[in-house]
Amino acid sequence: MKVQKFGGTSVGSPQRMKEVAQLITAEKKNIVVLSAMSGTTNSLVEIADYFKKRNVEAANSVIGKLRAKYMDHLPNLYSKQETIDKTRAFLEEQFQALHDYTSVPFDDNVGKAILSHGEIMSTNMVTNYLCEQGVKTMLIPALDFMRIAENGEPDMAFIGTKLKEILKANPDYDLYITQGFICMNSSNHIDNLQRGGSDYTACLIGAVLRCEEIQIWTDIDGMHNNDPRVVDNTTPVRQLNFEEAAELAYFGAKILHPTCIQPARYAGVPVRLLNTMCPSAPGTLINNDMQLGSIKAVAAKDNITAIKIVSSRMLLATGFLRKVFEIFETYNTSIDMVTTSEVGVSLSIDDTSHLAAIVEKLKQYGTVEVDENMCIICVVGDLRWSNVGFETIATDALSEVPVRMISYGGSNHNISFLIREEDKAKALCALSAHLFKAAN
Ligand code: ADP
Ligand code: ASP
Ligand code: MG
Repeated sequence: MKVQKFGGTSVGSPQRMKEVAQLITAEKKNIVVLSAMSGTTNSLVEIADYFKKRNVEAANSVIGKLRAKYMDHLPNLYSKQETIDKTRAFLEEQFQALHDYTSVPFDDNVGKAILSHGEIMSTNMVTNYLCEQGVKTMLIPALDFMRIAENGEPDMAFIGTKLKEILKANPDYDLYITQGFICMNSSNHIDNLQRGGSDYTACLIGAVLRCEEIQIWTDIDGMHNNDPRVVDNTTPVRQLNFEEAAELAYFGAKILHPTCIQPARYAGVPVRLLNTMCPSAPGTLINNDMQLGSIKAVAAKDNITAIKIVSSRMLLATGFLRKVFEIFETYNTSIDMVTTSEVGVSLSIDDTSHLAAIVEKLKQYGTVEVDENMCIICVVGDLRWSNVGFETIATDALSEVPVRMISYGGSNHNISFLIREEDKAKALCALSAHLFKAAN
């Protein structure tokens, strides 16, 4: 059994849905995870935002436009009037439910419930198409098995038990479809796995079922060696180690949700990135293999804040770092990069919701400097310290860019640089030119 996940662009129009149907019916018994049609989750975020601001008129206008778009798709997707009518009735219920949020006071739970409708609609549309085509398809509601625990982490035991139960009770289907992104939380409210979370859904399913392979189908032929939105002439990387892929995803390679590789890695299930627009392209295979001696790819994560704490008493002051880290822990704020010197420590965070309180607390231990609008550039590959000169190639590439922090040696796979966000494009281009010259 494989898990195949198709992103928003892959199911972005009736034509694309038909192409996906063709791809997923090539094999039997797989589980297919679908995102919302492209643009839908953004529209739902906009609708939720209008409800939050009590601008019901604007919310209803966005719902109206979205509804018209969906209704237009129906005759292009289905050939039987019966399927058109059935799907229309379902979609009408969904849009009515969106309008109905007007009558309840807005809170976080309502906001998240609003975001869930995109995946619910796309999976219903594709399932009805497959059934019309005579494929024995079961739509498994993700809200029946996908759950996050109180700490926001996936509840692997629950997900595994529930999903296995559902599959065992329904053995006679050729294909199983489910929604990406959406889940329940420990308070029994609808929640989600964060934007781009359908990749995470697929990897969680692949991990709990110990599937043969997790396939992430998207609009590009695998992980490129640099951000194709910023750098020209990037090329696909054919193979990545789990740790390399996890670093790239966490540090900004949008093709993968930041934490989706972890469950696949723990379960040892290979992940393959494939291109819906060109299914025969080889894509990228992510597994346990490690290609020695090569730097693979570069990624960038924006919206980073750097904090420097300088204490003249740090020398010999045991416990200084612990006290500093404890403050971040108290505010549930994770740290991405750390560098230390005799007199102080610099670190970077991306969640600034508690920044003011953190800075206030840090001031007990020294002077505090904050730099906002920074960006982490992460270079990934075989970066073991015994590979003489590898880190120099990366630092050389950035000789024209002011670098605020460098982190190296934390793993065998990465060297990271903290720079100003405004220098990101220049830095990424310079790295491609230096590191991947031969490939271009
Ligand atoms: P989906 O909707 O299928 O989940 P995403 O838009 O989330 O697709 O991810 C695919 C996009 O990720 C690509 O179109 C590309 O612009 C972007 N991307 C950013 N960095 C990379 C990279 N290193 N390799 C490939 N794609 C990347
Ligand atoms: N539809 C969700 C989003 O746009 C989840 C996903 O596409 O992976 O973020
Ligand atoms: Mg995505």
